[in-house]
Amino acid sequence: MHTCRICNQTFSTKLRLELHRDTCVEETLLCQQCGDQFSEAAATRDGWHYRCPNDDCEGEGLTEDLYRLDATGVEQDR
Ligand SMILES: [Zn+2]
Ligand SMILES: [Zn+2]
Repeated sequence: MHTCRICNQTFSTKLRLELHRDTCVEETLLCQQCGDQFSEAAATRDGWHYRCPNDDCEGEGLTEDLYRLDATGVEQDR
């Protein structure tokens, strides 16, 4: 079993997971304040103002506190 680290969906083969990751990563945001990951839809209502969906987190603003994950992005920088 292969699990997507972003959305926790499980897949029977590694190939299926990799195919999924391409689409999953595109719409996934990382909050620098609390370190949580969530979908774009959860963070914005109008596609303009972005805010961390966690009630106890102040993170907001795309490219400020919230970053898009991508193939060459945050995860691989460390
Ligand atoms: Zn996923
Ligand atoms: Zn947050």
